[in-house]
Amino acid sequence: MKYAPLANLIGGSAIAFQGKTLDVNSPLDGSVISRVPLSGSAEVDAAVQAAAGAQPEWAALPIKERVQVFYRYKTLLEKHMDDLADLVTRENGKTREEAIAEVAKSIEVTEFACSLPQLTSGEIQEVSRGVECRSEHVPVGVVACITPFNFPNMVPNWTIPNALTLGNSMILKPSELVPLSAQRLAELLAEAGLPEGVFNVVHGGRDVVEAVCDHPGIAAVSFVGSTRVAKIVYARATSTLKRCLALGGAKNHLIVLPDAHEEMTASNVAASMSGCAGQRCMAASAMVAVAGSDHIVNRLVEEAEKIVPGENLGAVITREAKERIEGYITEAEQQGAKVLVDGRGAVVPGHEDGYYVGPTVVDYVRPEMAIAREEVFGPVLSIMRTDTVDEAIAIENSSEYGNAAAVFTQSGGMARYVTERVSAGMTGVNIGVPVPREPFSFGGWNESKFGAGDITGKSSIELWTRLRKTTIKWNPEARTNWMS
Ligand code: NAD
Repeated sequence: MKYAPLANLIGGSAIAFQGKTLDVNSPLDGSVISRVPLSGSAEVDAAVQAAAGAQPEWAALPIKERVQVFYRYKTLLEKHMDDLADLVTRENGKTREEAIAEVAKSIEVTEFACSLPQLTSGEIQEVSRGVECRSEHVPVGVVACITPFNFPNMVPNWTIPNALTLGNSMILKPSELVPLSAQRLAELLAEAGLPEGVFNVVHGGRDVVEAVCDHPGIAAVSFVGSTRVAKIVYARATSTLKRCLALGGAKNHLIVLPDAHEEMTASNVAASMSGCAGQRCMAASAMVAVAGSDHIVNRLVEEAEKIVPGENLGAVITREAKERIEGYITEAEQQGAKVLVDGRGAVVPGHEDGYYVGPTVVDYVRPEMAIAREEVFGPVLSIMRTDTVDEAIAIENSSEYGNAAAVFTQSGGMARYVTERVSAGMTGVNIGVPVPREPFSFGGWNESKFGAGDITGKSSIELWTRLRKTTIKWNPEARTNWMS
């Protein structure tokens, strides 16, 4: 199936693009399904003008009116769940079940946005006789959001409902590898009644990101993607004095103790390493098995062997990604690691040109190997062996990343011991993907996140608003003194 070439959406209109474009390929079979504009600073500037023009009127609406758009948007996401999931599968390559889950998470985030009127009512107090202080959340203005390829529907929705409900207007720069879902979300927002210009989409790659960082009309930037680019965006956006939150890559460790529940651990680890073909920042890519856990490793291998590319395992994003992932496996093998389940050379009948890597479990990986340290971003689990839990924690602590970490054990004391010592923003006990659900916030530590606060949940209120503090004397009985 082919889709019409994409246009930028600026001020409520699709603006035909005359410049260079890029083919959009489906990872399922490598076919070209659309073309995306590679915009530049002129398109960013036009979008900033549109967003700045629309924002004051939008912000002037009471939040209880703004949120009505998102009640309707949530209903539209539910109504169109099937076709939204279909689009995600086609442009990203994940399975239908995973695509449905992605849209379900977008709905959950929108539900949270619908509670923002309750959460942002501000504070008021009489601070001395007849003198009152109050604080209120005020939007920051025009914001820009830059998103990665791995969740074309969910990651844009991490920011759209919250930032807009809080009174900002937005420019979204989706990944040029998966630009179709963003276009569809814009249509649904318009159908939900969002005024023109409040949400704009500028397609492209690096040039758009750089123009966003540099543009004086943008007040805040969120970024989700690799650590390499997160650092560039954070440094560049803050150098022009913008507020910035940049989420980066990950290398998540699961520490497995010998007392862990065998079936629960094996199925959770297998699902975590292979879900979304390992292309999620919460994927388990390193398992540290503490001595005595052989039975769990054996069971894990059985679980991994049940994962079948093209059935319950999707494709990876590009041919280059497939080659890169397979390269990590081969290098680890050459360095002495043992490949227990080998996903190299996977071919799905009928989809011979698709970008598939089968489930892969590599044992006896050493912490200094590239496969243990770097983000592989494929359905590959590296197992490292240690004698003690403290050695396992030390391996986790030595990672430059810090998105997620989890421990598998049936001992409450050990669970607490490990979760208090790992260096990650999102920790788990007996769970392979410890994603905090709304209203809790999503965000890692260390090189997995740059900037204060988190991107979703309650923490995002601080990202998308600033506090206005007002002090009021109501009548003369409030005498003038050194405090007021
Ligand atoms: P990426 O960093 O390559 O791209 C992200 C965005 O940055 C895209 O919109 C892209 O167009 C733009 N970009 C790419 N190179 C650029 C450059 N040199 N200068 C400016 N902009 C540039 O990331 P990706 O490959 O699309 O996504 C996968 C990465 O995202 C993984 O590292 C994954 O861990 C990470 N990720 C992190 C989270 C999180 O919450 N921490 C969530 C999802 C994905």
